[in-house]
Amino acid sequence: MSKPAASEEREEQSDCLCLVLDLDHTLFECISFDPPPPTQSLQSLVAMRISLSQSRSDIFWFQQFGKIYCVKLRPFVRSFLQQASFMFRLYVFTNGSRAYAKRLVHLLDPTGNIFGNRIICREDSTPPDYHKDLCLIPFAASQVVIVDDTPSAWPKDAKNLIVIEKYRFFGDVARSYKNESASGGPLAKLLDFLCRIHEAFFDGGMEVDARISAEKSSDCSTPKKDVVQIMQSLESRLSGSRCRLAASGLNRNEFIVTLQAALLKILECIT
Ligand SMILES: [Mg+2]
Repeated sequence: MSKPAASEEREEQSDCLCLVLDLDHTLFECISFDPPPPTQSLQSLVAMRISLSQSRSDIFWFQQFGKIYCVKLRPFVRSFLQQASFMFRLYVFTNGSRAYAKRLVHLLDPTGNIFGNRIICREDSTPPDYHKDLCLIPFAASQVVIVDDTPSAWPKDAKNLIVIEKYRFFGDVARSYKNESASGGPLAKLLDFLCRIHEAFFDGGMEVDARISAEKSSDCSTPKKDVVQIMQSLESRLSGSRCRLAASGLNRNEFIVTLQAALLKILECIT
């Protein structure tokens, strides 16, 4: 397992917080057509592409490796990334290829100001399982928060993980009933939780706002704490808000485990 990012930023980590973000179904949904559809379908696809491109700024199309990709960004994602970058050093950690990851990160962060070259991808992980591992991130685990829609991807770092509801746009008939808004959607709730983590870590009353400067957020003079302990403390104080973030992206067994944990927490409160 290589360490692509570690050597570059080891000296910069200091006491800053780090946020490691998955891509697919966390920040967007991307579908691909492989092999390319027949001519007639391709024509209608192109027509749909032009129609969508004219009316939507959050849907993108591109061709790569002989496939056609269509990407729908998660609502609120750009604002989320911008505000989160004021509090955390952001990394992408995906099981997609490096070429795919770079292409998608460019859609999310065209200027490169948010992620820079901090992208960990499939080529950096170890086969055959390609489990994601914090050893590839040049921060101590006590400084890292992970956000991913797939908890099984992080078998060794579950304590640092916030499992976010899986984002589905294409073919999801129930999507119109899901709240993905800037006030109550999964990314909005996540941003609020991250703000609380940051505030507790640095003992400050920092408010998440676009006016906060990057210089202020990178003030790393406060003594280091353990972000895992802070997350656990906040969970109990917020009556399991992290469980609510987690519930809908889980498979059956993971859901049962999460449900059992939530029920135990409720029992602890009433007994
Ligand atoms: Mg994912």
